[in-house]
Amino acid sequence: MGLFDKFKRIENSLKDLSQYSDSFFNVVLEQIISSTEAVINGKTTILAGTNNYLGMPHRKECIDAACQAIKEQGTGTTGSRMANGTYAIHVELEKELSHFLNKKHTIVFTTGYSANLAVLSTLVGPKDVVILDADCHASIYDGCKLGGVQVYRFKHNDVEDLEKRLKRLSNKADSILIAVEGLYSMLGDRAPLKEIVALKKGYNAYLLVDEAHSLGVLGKNGRGLAEEQGVESEVDFVIGTFSKSLGSIGGYCSSDYEKLELLRFASRPYVFTASSSPANIAAAQKALEIIQKEPQLRTRLWENAKLLYSRLKEMSFTIGPEPSPIIPVRFKEIPRAFAAWNGLLENGVYVNMVLPPATPDGTALLRCSLSAAHTTEQVESIARAFESIKNLA
Ligand code: PMP
Repeated sequence: MGLFDKFKRIENSLKDLSQYSDSFFNVVLEQIISSTEAVINGKTTILAGTNNYLGMPHRKECIDAACQAIKEQGTGTTGSRMANGTYAIHVELEKELSHFLNKKHTIVFTTGYSANLAVLSTLVGPKDVVILDADCHASIYDGCKLGGVQVYRFKHNDVEDLEKRLKRLSNKADSILIAVEGLYSMLGDRAPLKEIVALKKGYNAYLLVDEAHSLGVLGKNGRGLAEEQGVESEVDFVIGTFSKSLGSIGGYCSSDYEKLELLRFASRPYVFTASSSPANIAAAQKALEIIQKEPQLRTRLWENAKLLYSRLKEMSFTIGPEPSPIIPVRFKEIPRAFAAWNGLLENGVYVNMVLPPATPDGTALLRCSLSAAHTTEQVESIARAFESIKNLA
C-alpha cells in the first residue's frame, strides 16, 4: 500500500467528472475587474458565485485602510495571537465587534474556519454532547472531532428532530451545546432560531450560532439572523467570519461569558497559528464601520436577491425554499448540471457547482450568490444566461 492509494476514489471520480468539463477543476480568475466581474478563460464574466455579499473587497475605503496598515505595520505579524501576533488593531477590532454585536467578549481568530475549530474543540469535551444541524459547515464538524466531543446530528432545520435528541440525551451529558448556522450556505435558508432558543431554554442547553453568511446580510443593523428573530441575548456563542460580507480574512467568536477569555489559553487553533495580517484586520474594521453606516447596502443586496429568485422561479427552476442572497438551482443529474454550468460560463456567468457529498440531499446544484455590488442589468444578465440553459434542468 502506498501513501496515495487512499486517494484512489477521489482520483477515479475526478477522471469520471473530467469527461463533462475540463475547466471545472481549473477555474482561474485571470484578472479581477471588480467585485462582480473577472476575466475567466480570457472572457469578461459576471461573478455570481462568490460570498461577496456587500462588495467590500473593492471599496476604496477598505483598500486604503489595508494599504495604510501594511505601510505602518508590515505585511504579516509572524506570530500567533498568544505570542507576538496580537497587535493593537486585533484588540481594537475585538472591542468593535463586541460593541456591534452587544456581547461582552470577542476573540478574533485567523479565519472563520479556525474560529469554529478553536471554539468547538475547547469549549466542549468528551463528557459533553454537541447536537448540530446536519447541514452545518465542515469547520463545526471538524472542531467537534478535534475536541473529541460526542456529536449528534438533527435533520436540517427540523425542530422536532432536535427536540427528540435533546430529550434522549439531556441526562447523559455534562453539558449540551446546540450548534446551528444563521443563513445556510447551500440552500440559502434560515434556521428557525426562535424555536431553537425555546428548546435550548427548556433543556438547559447552550446555543452556538454561526452567522458566517448572515453578518451584514440579515437583521435591521446587519447583526445577523439572531437580530432578525429578536433572540440575540439567548445566543451563547456567536461565530462569524470576515471572509464574506466584510471582504477580508479572519473570524471571531463573541459571547457574554467572561470565561470565553480562557479559550485564548486553552485553544490550539488560537495558540498555534499566526494571527491575521494587519491589512486583513484593518480592511475588516473599515468594512464593519461601513456596514453600520450604510444599511442601504443590505437593501440593495436583497433587491438583487429577490429579483434573481423571482426570475428563476418564473422559469420553473427548482430553487431554494426562500428568497435569499444564496440561491441554489438543483439538477437531478450530474451530467446535466455540468452542461448547465458550462453553458452559463459560455454566456459570461460564473456560479458555483456543488456536487454530492457536499450537497444536502445528493443532487447536484448550481449555487448562485448575489452581491449589493451587482447592478440590476447584471442580475438580468444572470437570469438571461439561466434562460439559455433552461432545457437542462
Ligand atoms: N462557517 C461557515 C458557515 C462557512 O460557510 C464558512 C466558509 N465557507 C466558514 C465558517 C469558514 O470561514 P472562513 O472562510 O473565514 O474560514
